[in-house]
Amino acid sequence: MAWLRSLARFSRATKPYAADLPLFPRGGGAAASFCTGVAEAGFSGLGPTEPGGEAKPRVVVLGTGWAGSRFMKDLDTRAYDVVCVAPRNHMVFTPLLASTCVGTLEFRSVAEPIGRIQRAISTAPGSYFFLANCTRVDPDAHTVECETVTDGSTDTLKPWKFKVSYDKLIIACGAEASTFGIHGVKDHAIFLREVHHAQEIRRKLLLNLMLSDVPGITHEEKTRLLHCVVVGGGPTGVEFSGELSDFIIRDVHQRYSHVKDYIHVTLIEANEILSSFDVRLRQYAINQLTKSGVRLVRGIVKDVQPEKIILDNGEEVPYGLLVWSTGVGPSPFVRSLTFPKSPGGRIGVDEWLRVPSVQDVFAIGDCSGYLESTGKPVLPALAQVAERQGKYLASLLNRISKAGGGYANTAADIDLGDPFVYRHLGSMATVGRYKALVDLRKSKEAKGLSLAGFISWFIWRSAYLTRVISWRNRFYVAINWLTTLIFGRDISRI
Ligand SMILES: Cc1cc2nc3c(=O)[nH]c(=O)nc-3n(C[C@H](O)[C@H](O)[C@H](O)COP(=O)(O)OP(=O)(O)OC[C@H]3O[C@@H](n4cnc5c(N)ncnc54)[C@H](O)[C@@H]3O)c2cc1C
Repeated sequence: MAWLRSLARFSRATKPYAADLPLFPRGGGAAASFCTGVAEAGFSGLGPTEPGGEAKPRVVVLGTGWAGSRFMKDLDTRAYDVVCVAPRNHMVFTPLLASTCVGTLEFRSVAEPIGRIQRAISTAPGSYFFLANCTRVDPDAHTVECETVTDGSTDTLKPWKFKVSYDKLIIACGAEASTFGIHGVKDHAIFLREVHHAQEIRRKLLLNLMLSDVPGITHEEKTRLLHCVVVGGGPTGVEFSGELSDFIIRDVHQRYSHVKDYIHVTLIEANEILSSFDVRLRQYAINQLTKSGVRLVRGIVKDVQPEKIILDNGEEVPYGLLVWSTGVGPSPFVRSLTFPKSPGGRIGVDEWLRVPSVQDVFAIGDCSGYLESTGKPVLPALAQVAERQGKYLASLLNRISKAGGGYANTAADIDLGDPFVYRHLGSMATVGRYKALVDLRKSKEAKGLSLAGFISWFIWRSAYLTRVISWRNRFYVAINWLTTLIFGRDISRI
């Protein structure tokens, strides 16, 4: 079978070398002055395609999150080449990310490589994935400027810049964690948005557990090291607190029994926890978390110092692990774009998810919001919004291509059909100890079914298992859950 797979791979390997690509000129002109390190890298970018030429129209996608991945999955790659630019080569299944922090799931179970989501990226001659950040968009020239991501390993390779021309540009670069300008958050707290954040949380938690068992540590130090503080009582903060308390009750009590009485979780929220959920569910979550030993504190963080946080009432809260989860706002890249913005500073779009001030640019997911002129509210920063926008936009671009508008500046007169419409399917959150909340109301004010308890937990698990992107990861998740149930969580600090 191995030889058969090699043969198949060889026959698919038709992608030309970088030097054969339709490059920007290397020897002079704007591209040469723009690119540094061109000679070493032998690569200066992808030049424009031409209608009637050999190359298909090129769709450039910024981001491999929920929105970008769903878009690329559904895009017709017989009609378009797709070039994805992002600082990570995988999509993260964020609803299950909190479970990886304490070892309920392994990290690889929630990450799906983009080449598996859209195979053309690995196989088609004109489609690529570039590990880079987009740093500038020039809508007049139909180009994006990017800078490679080298993960800090500048001793072997310095980051360099390159340009990519697009026929259609899809901005799906997400948002960043809000810190509200509070001093010390970026330096001392860990966010929970990426797999590397979850890895950092797990390593720190296990390090603190192990250090607190070593002779010579004082009572105060031990209490501080084992105090886990979560700031933000939205679904992510609550789910993480629930996972953490499960880990403490089930695994720490058995495997770190010397320190079990020292470890505590505090969840700090300025307003109500889970404010978007039904009141009854909110109360259930409060009772459940309190029963699991989570201390709920109503307060506003004023300052974050290396070993303690200061609340608005002056209370000092020492911590060993601080996880920050207080919602999201526009990233510096989104703020730097000169397009008109929606309320809240996201990239402003119309009902067809176009950036209406320019040609051929679309924005989807957490980075975009309806312009005030559409009369529609900005949609919540949710995976279900991002995913459905990606799906809608792929079908819109497939339709545009069929109508002959795939290349740059050729789609102005094409009928776009129905605009994007979002219907909220409901919200779910786990609170630990095999309990969850399911709120199927269409909006905060509407009436509808809401459930809490074990059945909700079963619905939560089943729903997310079916939503995991691939069969491979679905299998990983199911096996991880089973292994955790039988043997407990993995506590090795690797
Ligand atoms: C822990 C956690 C749990 C969550 N749980 C749920 C849930 O249960 N249900 C739900 O509906 N929502 C949930 N969400 C919210 C949901 O994950 C987001 O709304 C969703 O990820 C938004 O998708 P996106 O594609 O817009 O952005 P993201 O998924 O954040 O992806 C952004 C992409 O853009 C890339 N990027 C960033 N900057 C640049 C740049 N300059 N150039 C190129 N690429 C760039 C990033 O690397 C990334 O690949 C959760 C979020 C988190 C963090």
